[in-house]
Amino acid sequence: IQRNPGESEFHQAVKEFMYSMTPVLERDPKYIQYNILERIVEPERMITFRVPWVDDQGRIQVNRGYRVQFNSAIGPYKGGIRFHPSVNAGIIKFLGFEQTFKNSLSGMPIGGGKGGSDFDPKGKSEGEVMRFVQSFMTELYKYIGPDEDVPAGDIGVGPREIGYMFGQYKRICGGHEAGVFTGKGLTYGGSLVRKEATGYGCVYFVEEMLKEKGMSLEGRTVVVSGSGNVAIYAMEKAMQLGAKVVACSDSNGYVYDPQGINLETVKQLKEVERRRIKDYVQEHPHAEYHEGCSGIWTIPCDIALPCATQNEISEESASILVKNGVIAVAEGANMPSTLEAIDIFLQNDVLFGPAKAANAGGVSVSALEMSQNSMRFNWTFEEVDAKLRQIMSNIYRNSMAAAEEYGYTGNLVVGANIAGFLKVADSMIAQGVV
Ligand code: NDP
Repeated sequence: IQRNPGESEFHQAVKEFMYSMTPVLERDPKYIQYNILERIVEPERMITFRVPWVDDQGRIQVNRGYRVQFNSAIGPYKGGIRFHPSVNAGIIKFLGFEQTFKNSLSGMPIGGGKGGSDFDPKGKSEGEVMRFVQSFMTELYKYIGPDEDVPAGDIGVGPREIGYMFGQYKRICGGHEAGVFTGKGLTYGGSLVRKEATGYGCVYFVEEMLKEKGMSLEGRTVVVSGSGNVAIYAMEKAMQLGAKVVACSDSNGYVYDPQGINLETVKQLKEVERRRIKDYVQEHPHAEYHEGCSGIWTIPCDIALPCATQNEISEESASILVKNGVIAVAEGANMPSTLEAIDIFLQNDVLFGPAKAANAGGVSVSALEMSQNSMRFNWTFEEVDAKLRQIMSNIYRNSMAAAEEYGYTGNLVVGANIAGFLKVADSMIAQGVV
């Protein structure tokens, strides 16, 4: 905390992780001998830069850009770029820290990184977004590359922004290095299923958790927060597997549709027209719109999928979910549950899928996109989807096995942390004091 003042989200992520390390250190003192914990919480590199751009009125605006290259022990840095006004060094570091272990858990050969800017894409014209992205990339290009650091999307960064980033990178560096970004459009090196991967993967993870207890998604009531990339495809897969999704949200409020959310409307509003979720009720007047985000967790449900942002489920919201009989919670977003909320879920035997495990599907398919770019060959939708499903199942089983082995049977928070940690730590030891 003294070394990283004011970085509360980073402290929170490290704290959650450190709780899981006690049994590992007790069993194997080499991690103490090699001072792994102190090394692993320190990013290899943190890049901060000025991003000047000109708005439509001809005024010069300045934002701040970030890239944290957290850990490259098991592969090139890999992680998304976030554009949101809340972005700061602590948020980027928490995301990069989490990414390191998530990527390890995915079984793919990728290290951990993350980046972004405090730029707010909301309300900006196409031209402004493009000029901002080009300026951002004019600095970031120096630090990335297909074998070095491979960015992707995150909050506020979707196919449009990735396209502009790739275009500018190509313009500066020449050639067509498709493997330098993932989440690209399908016409220029993107992978099928990447768009769907985080949401689908999260629901595949829920399926695994339920299967273990002899249950399924069929007929379950589901609440999903957010209405962005992760939320939309979590809803889609949950519906395909027979569940009824009754609510979703954006940063202004949430809609409750007791008949089941109409996904086509949500896709049209959010993916095509970039409008607000409150407009959903214009087309579906029987649905309710409520201002404010946290109220979504008061809707009774069997399965809750927080897919918006960090710390969106407080202790109070977790208690309400438990009181209303929630069976499973899987984190589509990064760190959406506070530490207190996680405790409530674990104490009440809610099946809890932590972000590192439950939302690793996105980065896993990103790694598959990198493989396809290297091969200059594309797999079919069915092939990538089958690989994603297998990866989510492996992540579930490896996390459960680690939890069991270290005396925390059924605790996926501890299991995912330990399973993710061991590969990174052992690789760091093998590579010497670097
Ligand atoms: P999007 O930008 O596509 O969607 C984000 C959604 O969350 C929007 O509905 C947005 O509402 C809402 N939201 C954002 N910030 C806030 C906030 N402060 N309070 C309330 N709601 C908010 O992002 P993604 O779907 O890509 O990302 C969502 C989460 O999933 C993030 O935590 C991200 O790190 C994580 N994640 C994403 C992956 C991916 O592949 N995209 C992979 C793994 C994790 P509004 O439209 O009003 O801004």
